[in-house]
Amino acid sequence: PVILAIESSCDDTSASVCVDGIVLSNVIANQSIHEAYGGVVPELASRVHQQNIVPAVQQALAKAKVSKNDVDAVAFTRGPGLLGSLLVGVSFAKAFALSKNIPLIEINHMQAHVLAHFIGSNKPSFPFLCLTVSGGHTQIVLVKDYFDMEVVGQTLDDAAGEAMDKTSKILGLPYPGGPLIDKHARLGNPEAYRFPEPQIQGFDFSFSGLKTSILYFIRDNVAKNPDFIAENINDICASVEGRIVSILLNKLKKAADLYDIKDVALAGGVSANTGLRQGLQKMGEKNGWNCFIPEMQYCTDNAGMIAIAGYHKYLKGDFAGQDVVPLARMPF
Ligand code: ATP
Ligand code: FE
Repeated sequence: PVILAIESSCDDTSASVCVDGIVLSNVIANQSIHEAYGGVVPELASRVHQQNIVPAVQQALAKAKVSKNDVDAVAFTRGPGLLGSLLVGVSFAKAFALSKNIPLIEINHMQAHVLAHFIGSNKPSFPFLCLTVSGGHTQIVLVKDYFDMEVVGQTLDDAAGEAMDKTSKILGLPYPGGPLIDKHARLGNPEAYRFPEPQIQGFDFSFSGLKTSILYFIRDNVAKNPDFIAENINDICASVEGRIVSILLNKLKKAADLYDIKDVALAGGVSANTGLRQGLQKMGEKNGWNCFIPEMQYCTDNAGMIAIAGYHKYLKGDFAGQDVVPLARMPF
């Protein structure tokens, strides 16, 4: 089947075409408008989605060399995400499906981040563990089948990506900060400063304490030396990134031990982080894991992951009706 997929849950408008389980295009239109505000402005995001969605779909079809008349089903992100942003993608998908008289397939964005591992040939085997780390979520997911997933641990407050972005804001870096922290961290010493590791039972996470300790650490040092940040930016970023990575991987190791699992995957925007990718590889080598790390274009929000998830739902004949509505919160 030919699946057209739409992703519009946050600030990236993305369209993808997948033919018989092979993702042939993955067009992503980023929204730079939010940089000036230091974060995503929901009302602006949905307006820009409206401008971007038709060109993104046209490009995705053209790149895949597929005519819109050949599409067999339209997959779209139903949630979780910003309601106004989701609404643009859901409305487009409905209109397209209605005009071509083809089925609709609703996709959970967080499941799709996990299913990004089924794009390409190197696929994990069920059951596997996936550490999904993004701007809004931090989850350890036990993946039993394509659509049979259980969240065994999650953050009690901030997400890992949020911790990256808030740290960069404290340091006066522009939004989104994750990639900049990554860049500076490569040039710094992760042992330079010690930030606390929260003591949380089980497989859950907490990042708000870390954020507060970074805030006080910067405040106290800048009081003594106004140039503290500029002089030590690489070491600060390396130390913060190192702590975030160790918090994430220590929990993942615990879960892999308890569930006795050897296939371990990373997903979500923060899986683009160099320190996390390297840290997982190292931990995997030590523990005899098969590690799965998505290609960069499938880490942050993209429609390729919606397309592959849509393909597997198509095979099950699992379709949505025209009365489907987007959901800001959407559990598995
Ligand atoms: P969710 O998937 O939870 O709805 P989202 O879709 O906004 O949230 P993603 O696009 O998956 O999130 O990820 C964005 C996050 O990834 C941001 O917090 C960003 O800072 C972070 N990020 C992206 N690249 C890197 C990197 N190289 N290092 C660290 N963080 C990164
Ligand atoms: Fe996402």
